[in-house]
Amino acid sequence: MNRDFYHSLIFDLSRPGRRAYAIPTNGCTPSIAELPPQLMRESAPQLPEVDEPTIVRHYTNLSTNNFGVDSGFYPLGSCTMKYNPKINEEIASLPSMASLHPYQPDSTVQGALEAYWNLNRALSEIGGMSEFTLNPFAGAHGELTGLMVIRAYHDSRGDAKRTKVIVPDSAHGTNPASAAVAGLKVVEVKSLPDGTVDVEALRGLLDDSVAAVMMTNPNTAGIFEHNIPEIARMAHEAGALMYYDGANLNPMLGISRPGDMGFDVMHINLHKTFSTPHGGGGPGSGPVGVRAGLEQFLPNPRVVRNDDGTFSLTRSDDSLGSVSATLGNFAVQLRALSYILSLGNDGLMMAGPLATLNANYIKESLRDLYCLPIDRVCKHEFVFDGLADKSTGVTTLNVAKRLLDHGFHAPTIYFPLLFHESLMIEPTETESIDTLDRFIDVMRSIAEEAKSNPDMVKEAPHRTPVRHPDDTAAALNPVVTYFELTND
Ligand SMILES: *Cc1c(COP(=O)(O)O)cnc(C)c1O
Repeated sequence: MNRDFYHSLIFDLSRPGRRAYAIPTNGCTPSIAELPPQLMRESAPQLPEVDEPTIVRHYTNLSTNNFGVDSGFYPLGSCTMKYNPKINEEIASLPSMASLHPYQPDSTVQGALEAYWNLNRALSEIGGMSEFTLNPFAGAHGELTGLMVIRAYHDSRGDAKRTKVIVPDSAHGTNPASAAVAGLKVVEVKSLPDGTVDVEALRGLLDDSVAAVMMTNPNTAGIFEHNIPEIARMAHEAGALMYYDGANLNPMLGISRPGDMGFDVMHINLHKTFSTPHGGGGPGSGPVGVRAGLEQFLPNPRVVRNDDGTFSLTRSDDSLGSVSATLGNFAVQLRALSYILSLGNDGLMMAGPLATLNANYIKESLRDLYCLPIDRVCKHEFVFDGLADKSTGVTTLNVAKRLLDHGFHAPTIYFPLLFHESLMIEPTETESIDTLDRFIDVMRSIAEEAKSNPDMVKEAPHRTPVRHPDDTAAALNPVVTYFELTND
């Protein structure tokens, strides 16, 4: 085993007989002999044996190898990686909230139900919807839930022919995936060179077999889809419903509402727009909102406010069923509520314009050195198609890795699939002009370096704790347990 201290696994540090803590034998703990024999192990588990300072140093050092929005700028397009105010964490970890049990009687959790209700009302106002369920666990889970609402709606009208969902080619990969999981067939509609959906092509696809048109606005290229009212009119005329993927709601906060544009069902990624830390797979929350007339199809249970001001859980027979254990990721919901209340109306209404200004500022400051295939005012994010000078052989992947040497997280790369060398930047509203200027300087210096010393860029990163993992080998031949490693 040849790993230095920073890359060692906790198993490498194990020494037989070392202990961090031992449970005292005071006569109160049940003795192992009391356990039924069929529950007993035949051999001792192979656990690492380490002293307490070794454990603490190991995990503390691992944590400093990581990159987070608390350690630097994170311009990851399509992810809205904004800074997460610490007050949200304090609220979410209040013992009165964090220690609740999901099956406590309603009468003992009135405050928690009120928080759920208040967030539902705030999101309904922000989205222009009638009611939200906060139960789904992520954006993709929200998409699935929303499409199930749409299916339940068509089923309730005895309209069984509607089996297709129209999805633009610029859509996030979760859209077609969710449609397929919901048992619907995906029909792709092309984008025009300006990045917006081709309305004429869409018109040709609409008929009585279409359950829904699924759109993202601004779309994943950061372009505002200005034809939504026309598209919604056409879809409704054909009997389909409009689904809004709200992962890109950030630039629209308080400025325009999906409900007012003609969307019937939408989801919001609380872990993007409403400032919950994310990355690494969760936890997230993907509330789903519906316009008036669709509430009864939302998943069970729902939180209702009774006439006497108390709150309780209800279940509707028309509901699509249940999509989560009880009421979803409650701590993520509390962070979102804390964020909304601490910003207030005025603060929320500044988020979109600032995010838009920051994105356009970076775009305009780099467009002479990076290829800008869609040359329009963008919203919260935009896409470069790699370096303008393609003669150096330096790719988007190389640029992204070189950024790591300068203390920035990489942008989203090779998505959207509209361009070969996509490099997608989303600064969010929480970054200062100084951070944006530093990022712009570094992006410019990388473009210069690609000409003067291309190998320096191609071999990056040079300064990160882990330099060149072989991602192909890792994907083809994953080693996921220590014991496999030692047996080799
Ligand atoms: C992030 C994202 C999703 C998926 O959300 P998850 O919470 O990651 O499941 C869907 N659509 C768009 C446009 C996104 O950016």
